[in-house]
Amino acid sequence: MQLLSDRVLNMATSATLAMAAKARELRNEGKDIIGLSLGEPDFNTPDFIKDAAIQAINDNYNSYSPVDGYADLKDAIITKFKRDNNLTYTPAQIVVSTGAKQSLANVAAVLTNPGDEVIVPCPYWVSYADIVKLYDGVPVEVETSIDTDFKMTPEQLEAAITPKTKMIWFSSPCNPSGSIYSAEELRGLADVLVKYPNIYVVSDEIYEHINYVGGHASMAQFEDMYDRTITVNGVSKAFAMTGWRIGYIGAPEKIARACNKIQGQMTSGTNCIAQRATITALNESPDRVKYMIDEFKVRRDLILGLLKDIEGFECNTPQGAFYVFPNVSAFYGKTFKGKTINNASDLSMFFLEEALVATVDGAAFGNPNCLRISYAASQEQIIEAMRRIKEALS
Ligand code: PLP
Repeated sequence: MQLLSDRVLNMATSATLAMAAKARELRNEGKDIIGLSLGEPDFNTPDFIKDAAIQAINDNYNSYSPVDGYADLKDAIITKFKRDNNLTYTPAQIVVSTGAKQSLANVAAVLTNPGDEVIVPCPYWVSYADIVKLYDGVPVEVETSIDTDFKMTPEQLEAAITPKTKMIWFSSPCNPSGSIYSAEELRGLADVLVKYPNIYVVSDEIYEHINYVGGHASMAQFEDMYDRTITVNGVSKAFAMTGWRIGYIGAPEKIARACNKIQGQMTSGTNCIAQRATITALNESPDRVKYMIDEFKVRRDLILGLLKDIEGFECNTPQGAFYVFPNVSAFYGKTFKGKTINNASDLSMFFLEEALVATVDGAAFGNPNCLRISYAASQEQIIEAMRRIKEALS
């Protein structure tokens, strides 16, 4: 009998974490690697949030919390949803989890039966397809291109729907393309979905505040989609709290209760100190973290300008998040030291070995012609990384 389950054997290792591990290995060998592979703000968690965590420790928050989160954290989430998204939720519709990643895994676990299809517009966040597969769902990839700013059109959505379609999962702002669906574009998708009342929407809004164009739209804001939308959010990105592990959903009550049930058997309530700190983070105005967004925008413009200067990178202009996702197929077929670059994976490896810059193969996000480059790094690092890449390519 084989030792490991088919479930884990059929699962891909997270490409972003794998590249980070490889970069770490090379760093340990003394190589000066610039890491542009991880989706992690390079800022410290703001002091007002850290202070709340210290206070929680001193106040002896050390016991198991309710599985779905402290009542006053849920209140803070409800206030945040109303203030930022004009969405009305009750406490029974909120579940707090160990990062948005667990929120997504919970939703997949409670809504997917074997063979159910989940539409994932490409490029998608690296874990969507594997989380869906873990629960015996079938990810149905919808290809998009730079011409539609990597956004799925209503026609594409309709063409991908089958009697087995259970859900659609997408992020806006999108990791990795940085694209943002406007309210009109979401309405276009909703107009298709209203014809199929059994399809649910997972709207991943974790990059909500990292938005350079203003105006964040949520699918659940449409009255006819509210009862069929699970809104996913968290504090990792906007508040530089990736390691604190707090994510949450606002969802139809039946789905939230099911997530609560499954989480109760898997992990229980998430870290109590992080929950207390999140109350403070969410109760503050998002303006408190605007300095980070402003800096990300400067870096976005910087990296776009530097990439424009290197022949072969074709970029959209990301409107949010902190990644660029250039099409790099112009480099395919080129040879270096006897090795041919056949795909984005080869190119990413070439950049790691020859330029000492870590990026991620776009295939992990469902688009093998692109490379994901994170600009959650200092301006100096971005400038040096692009200089090295240009030099390696020349
Ligand atoms: N959704 C998207 C689109 C992400 O990029 C990430 C993290 O990279 C997550 C969800 C997971 O976030 P968390 O750190 O809250 O688990």
